[in-house]
Amino acid sequence: MERVWLSSPHMGEMEKVYVAEAFATNWVAPLGPNVEAFEKQLSEYVGVKGVLSLSSGTGALHLALKMLGIKRDDIVLCQSFTFAASAFPITYCDATPVFIDSERDTWNMDPELLEKAIKDQLKKGKKPAAIMVVHLYGMPAKMDEIAAIAQAYDIPLIEDAAEALGSSYKGKACGSFGKMGILSFNGNKIITTSGGGALTSNDEAIITKARFLATQAREPVPYYLHKEIGYNYRLSNVLAGIGRGQMEVLPQRIDRRREIFDFYKNELGNSGSIHFFDEPEGLFSNRWLTTVLFDKKIGTGFNEKLRVELEKFNIETRALWKPLHQQPVFAGCDSYNNGVSDELFETGLCLPSGSNISGENLEKVVYEIKRFLS
Ligand SMILES: *Cc1c(COP(=O)(O)O)cnc(C)c1O
Repeated sequence: MERVWLSSPHMGEMEKVYVAEAFATNWVAPLGPNVEAFEKQLSEYVGVKGVLSLSSGTGALHLALKMLGIKRDDIVLCQSFTFAASAFPITYCDATPVFIDSERDTWNMDPELLEKAIKDQLKKGKKPAAIMVVHLYGMPAKMDEIAAIAQAYDIPLIEDAAEALGSSYKGKACGSFGKMGILSFNGNKIITTSGGGALTSNDEAIITKARFLATQAREPVPYYLHKEIGYNYRLSNVLAGIGRGQMEVLPQRIDRRREIFDFYKNELGNSGSIHFFDEPEGLFSNRWLTTVLFDKKIGTGFNEKLRVELEKFNIETRALWKPLHQQPVFAGCDSYNNGVSDELFETGLCLPSGSNISGENLEKVVYEIKRFLS
């Protein structure tokens, strides 16, 4: 039985051409024409002045925090409902994450809880050093409210748009709101360079400085001179060739992911026991993954039972992100909770959503879900 993947790489026509060009011209280095072209495509697409392509989204987050001067004992307010990679880089800076729960409309950071956390931390004499908001599964967070709070309290905002390339909030692209944003091109994201990421900003000075830090903080002199700690975080020109080709097909990939969401919703949305997650007015999701919630009336743990059942048919599904305030590695961290992300984790499931999934396999997934439901 052929495996039905959750989300697997989907190459277009041109990726190989650009990679071959890198070989033909011997630009097999972490800089070169593909890197420049890929960064230009990204900055035009996201609508930001500067983009720095990097070896991972995690590295991009680390650099973003470094650019803000995040240091030991600083507090960073981070969305709890997300992949651990959103918060790991906070610990690389010896800073402390404080987790903020989600609201139900977008499943992302709850602005009310965010403000409560800021007030509470200020009362303790600790002004948070940054806010890390995530657009999870491609759904934009409530950016008007969150950006207003960040501005009112003068706290810099970092946008983790790793899952949200192509999503937009009131017509403005995710990754263009914060002081900095990050993207990921890991293997299962909406487009991939097999591994890679990017830092975005409208402040070109930030991108220039980040590029310097990502290249081992090498001073512009003819010998190796270093006045700061650097990192080796640049994206290879070979991989940027894949990214270039992927950017050409990104609009098609988004259309297909959205079509997959609609297909599942049409087939399963009327059962009464499966709930779909509609876009609030003005928000556009790339529908990176189709996520569903199972009604509590069909019993707790149904999501895991169905996952095990579908696995028998070689269909890959996955639990929603386990909230970071529940992760053993972050057990000592403060969090501001309202129960939303806990409930999402307990009742949700991600369905196979790759843009290369065949119609036949989509039918198979729906058939097996319906059969198991009845
Ligand atoms: C994938 C992902 C990251 C990390 O990106 P990598 O390129 O895998 O390092 C960070 N945050 C979120 C929300 C992600 O989904």
